[in-house]
Amino acid sequence: NSILSSVLPAPEDPVLSVIFACRDDPSPVKLNLSAGTYRTEEGKPLVLDVVRRAEQQLANDLSRDKEYLPLNGLPEFNKLSTKLILGDDSPALKENRVVTTQCLSGTGSLRVGAEFLATHNKESVIFVPNPTWGNHPRIFTLAGLSVQYFRYYDPKSRGLDFKGMLEDLGAAPPGAIVVLQACAHNPTGVDPTFEQWEKIRRLVRSKSLLPFFDSAYQGFASGSLDADAQAVRMFVADGGECLIAQSYAKNMGLYGERIGSLTIVCTSEDVAKKVENQVLLVVRPMYLTPPIHGASIVATILKNSDMYNDWTIELKGMADRIISMRQQLYAALEARGTPGDWSHIIKHIGMFTFTGLSEEQVRLMAKEYHIYMTYDGRISMASLSSKTVPQLADAIHAVVT
Ligand code: PLP
Repeated sequence: NSILSSVLPAPEDPVLSVIFACRDDPSPVKLNLSAGTYRTEEGKPLVLDVVRRAEQQLANDLSRDKEYLPLNGLPEFNKLSTKLILGDDSPALKENRVVTTQCLSGTGSLRVGAEFLATHNKESVIFVPNPTWGNHPRIFTLAGLSVQYFRYYDPKSRGLDFKGMLEDLGAAPPGAIVVLQACAHNPTGVDPTFEQWEKIRRLVRSKSLLPFFDSAYQGFASGSLDADAQAVRMFVADGGECLIAQSYAKNMGLYGERIGSLTIVCTSEDVAKKVENQVLLVVRPMYLTPPIHGASIVATILKNSDMYNDWTIELKGMADRIISMRQQLYAALEARGTPGDWSHIIKHIGMFTFTGLSEEQVRLMAKEYHIYMTYDGRISMASLSSKTVPQLADAIHAVVT
């Protein structure tokens, strides 16, 4: 007599099905380009040296205990994390109108922010780019928000549909939430220029929309923490409100530590106090308080200027390796005389590129060449190496000619 036997099978997840297909492929030359995690030239996961040092320092500090953190997390982490995204001399920080809550990486920060907005924002419509990271619609829908899309990617130019984006945001109801990826847009690799960001900012403010930044790749796109935070800082500099979800999964390689933060920039200290207390009401019934270890690692690195510098060097190393993979792949396709314009590979930024390959071509790449990517043709540049670039270029050349 089973109550649970009536549970329906879950629908197949398209990303997981690619990963499983690759796992089950016995070919020794198989190549998985579907996952969003950094790999070294040798194809291995990377733990940053500075993270190892921070962990050793923490392990040697016998004064540390395992008590619960406060509901909003490690205070030192929250302060340093806010400074990292807003900049040391942000007026919003000086005016005490910023609320930061340690959350479970980027996903948890988006979820807590969404739950807060679903209760306290009068307009429940949330606009996300088309396309966007696959988890965005799920996170926001489950929180009770109503998801709509704004035009973002133009398949013809393999770049930004800026006109379409402005038209769609211009038609959004006042108070609607707009999800903006701060840099290194997933899955397309297409970011607005700073001039375009300024036009977006003006439109968002003039239409009284509420920006919710997803900053999952600060420092990972350009190699500069400041440059990758610039879009967010442009919005904060105008004195208006916004939310920011930060993640240390990619830029510190702390994927499994689940460390990130939700920052809410308010218009006054008085508003910030109320917002802070309401966010705690979201957190308490969800998981009570966040975990200590990842927050301690990040705080240790951010507060020590030597470690901070070493981190920026290792971070730039990851960003530069990805940029170099773009150049190598582009050069390899040029050298083969592969039909089509492949310049988008070097124009795109961050971990991913939309190759422009069709689903049929993607399936062919898997079947014939043992190269796996998501069905939308997205590849992770971070999973490539100098050794595998020729293999990918050969396969792309074969499927498009
Ligand atoms: N936002 C974007 C755009 C992402 O690409 C990701 C991860 O791939 C995340 C958020 C969340 O990552 P995490 O929860 O590991 O920080």
